[in-house]
Amino acid sequence: MKYHLKTLGCAKNTVDSWRMESALRSSGHIPSFNRQDADLLLVNTCGFIDDASEESLDAIRDLDSSRTGDQQLWVAGCLTQIATDRVKREIPGVDNTFGAEEWDLIALELGPSQETYDIPDATMPGASVSAYLKVSDGCDRPCTFCIIPKIKGAMKSGDGQRLLSEAKMHAYAGAKELVLIAQDTTAFGEDTSNKDGLADFLEELSETVPEVPWIRLMYAYPGKVTPKLAETMSRLPNIVPYVDMPLQHGSDATLRRMKRPSLRKANQSLELLTKAMPEIALRTTFIVGFPDETESEFLELLEFIKEWKFDHIGAFSYSPQDGTPAFEYGGSVDSEVVADRYSRLMTLAQDISSSRTKDLVGKRVDVLIESEEPGENTEGDLFSIGRSFRDAPEVDGMAFVKGVFQPGDIVPTIVKGSLPYDLLCYPA
Ligand code: SF4
Repeated sequence: MKYHLKTLGCAKNTVDSWRMESALRSSGHIPSFNRQDADLLLVNTCGFIDDASEESLDAIRDLDSSRTGDQQLWVAGCLTQIATDRVKREIPGVDNTFGAEEWDLIALELGPSQETYDIPDATMPGASVSAYLKVSDGCDRPCTFCIIPKIKGAMKSGDGQRLLSEAKMHAYAGAKELVLIAQDTTAFGEDTSNKDGLADFLEELSETVPEVPWIRLMYAYPGKVTPKLAETMSRLPNIVPYVDMPLQHGSDATLRRMKRPSLRKANQSLELLTKAMPEIALRTTFIVGFPDETESEFLELLEFIKEWKFDHIGAFSYSPQDGTPAFEYGGSVDSEVVADRYSRLMTLAQDISSSRTKDLVGKRVDVLIESEEPGENTEGDLFSIGRSFRDAPEVDGMAFVKGVFQPGDIVPTIVKGSLPYDLLCYPA
């Protein structure tokens, strides 16, 4: 059978789709990039926030409206985990639904393929210069604004050997960067009472794939960076000095209402990381307009940002999620106030990012090339596009390197100029 898979949502869902595809391929089914040629239309949905749910529903509707009579439409993932009835009610044509993590069940229900196909290669679906490695799923944290623990359930660390095999497959397929993701990567091992589970895993991973020069850590939890983790990251040659730690706010009062770790814990983790790796690039995200957020709490957040001068900041305006404790809170902040705070925060974030990239001018940085084809500037110079260790795929900035290079090349460069988020580089 040929399937056409549409994936919505975050990088964690992309990894889930790879797993779904691995199970389908093991049963002899093959992907079809063209939806018209497929026997099965499959959607891996996201239900994290209202906008994401709407986007998933639109994608299902779109496939439903254009399908031919004998094409099946199956829907899986976070949205069907929490709102199967809604999906079926709004799009009655859906033939089958699965929750999050039921990847093997999808392949099981389809059974082995009745046809034999020529499969062009045995590489991991989605293999590229940069690959995601999802080290655990689910979450036990109590954040009052988040629906994920309800969708995904308790945190389960991935099987270490399976993760190492996945990493080797990515390396074999040419990945030069592995990006570790999870709802909370620093929780890895907590379900087996190993508070240094992530540090131990990084040690093994680094040894298993020495040919992957960049291993990157996303989604660390404040207060959960151990001294051993910081030391391990600083010592291993292929762990890049980069951490994404969503901090959500910079005022203890707001953090308490969010049931998030205190500023003391956040500062402790940031200090451990910056002491071990002075050159570290830090990424974080904040929510503005959480219920009852006062102007003085918001100003504390701005001060916190100025103190740490984060390289990359993502911000979200608070959006209440049905089913979360915060949904029941009163005290919603006026939408104009939220918009104003969002814009003030992003202006500050951009100023800081600009000065961080400016500081790099004249310095040497390695750039991992991602572009297939070179671009051309107004002077007719050809340039290739990639990223330095400071930038994670999809969310951070880019580096434009003069010259023509291949995807996967790591080019030593000198930074010649900077934009708020991006670098202009010449080969060294
Ligand atoms: S740690 Fe992240 S995924 Fe877990 S409850 Fe908090 S916000 Fe949600």
